[in-house]
Amino acid sequence: MPDLHPSSLIHVALQTVADACRVARSVQQDLEQVREVTKDDRSPVTVADFAVQAIVSLALHENDSYTLIVGEEKADLLREEAQSTVRQAVVDAVGTCREGVSEAEVLDAIDRGAFDPCRCKPIQGYWVLDPIDGTKGFLRGQQYAIALAYVERGKVLLGVMGCPNLPADHAASLTEPDSRGTLYAAVAGAGTWMMPADQPGAKTQVVQARQNVSDEGIQICESVEAGHSKHDDTARITTQLGGAGTPVRLDSQCKYAVVARGQADAYLRLPTSRSYVEKVWDHAAGSIIATEAGAVVSDITGAKLDFSLGRRLENNRGIVCASAALHRKIIETIDALGLAGVSPTN
Ligand code: AMP
Ligand code: MG
Repeated sequence: MPDLHPSSLIHVALQTVADACRVARSVQQDLEQVREVTKDDRSPVTVADFAVQAIVSLALHENDSYTLIVGEEKADLLREEAQSTVRQAVVDAVGTCREGVSEAEVLDAIDRGAFDPCRCKPIQGYWVLDPIDGTKGFLRGQQYAIALAYVERGKVLLGVMGCPNLPADHAASLTEPDSRGTLYAAVAGAGTWMMPADQPGAKTQVVQARQNVSDEGIQICESVEAGHSKHDDTARITTQLGGAGTPVRLDSQCKYAVVARGQADAYLRLPTSRSYVEKVWDHAAGSIIATEAGAVVSDITGAKLDFSLGRRLENNRGIVCASAALHRKIIETIDALGLAGVSPTN
């Protein structure tokens, strides 16, 4: 039986996320070709999503054959006869880091992500995976993330996040893809580190969120997609708090990393509808990376994220991730502006 302590799991998680970054990067660099392969209404991202889920699932299963995975993707569509071209593209992509892998092994590995913790309330831990978070960013050649977390009894114990296009240099553009990317790792109670995405064994750098708001005012980051976070509400909150100018917009959980490493004061995700419920894979890795770096993460009412309820954050609405100094003020402002609304179950 392998050692399942988070500090031992981190090595397998880092290696597989780094492998997945390399494969996702090569799929992204070849989008035109992938588009041709997937013309029959399959978006190119589908190839990368499936391939990354298979790569990570194969590595975790090899480490522990009893491993449980909550992954975003399933292989139903890929198994259809009409999808043979896409299926082959996925097997080829996985084969670049697992020579000779068979189609059946790839499809079964993807389907191991179907675990639903809600059904059996496991006492053993399980993995939560978003193979390609920030699909729109991936398609635009901008930011996206490969996000893997280990959860036990509703608590995130470990997070590893690959950001293949996110530069280490804070002065570099966030919309231009970086040639190396960054990789983040956090262990509950032990902190957050970063390293180059193409060198998971490199010397790590400790990551720390801002302690105080700078004299230039607060810097917020939010989704590029107006459908995923209400931009108008961010603007109202920022104005109320005396914030400075336009928020930084970027796709995926890279936003958690940007706050974790002290490049922004806060990441706001303000609900655009009453019915949308956040998915665990969109927040498990990112939230521990931010909190272990000293930031505070909650929903828009100030409640902690509750990862014990299955594949979705049923008890939460939206996200506020901010430096400790600012978090309470943001929650108070949301409340004062009446932006918290009603819970999704109402
Ligand atoms: P982002 O890159 O921050 O825009 O977030 C991407 C994630 O948004 C995807 O992984 C989706 O799961 C999630 N998403 C899809 N629809 C919505 C929505 N209406 N509100 C919030 N998040 C959403
Ligand atoms: Mg996602």
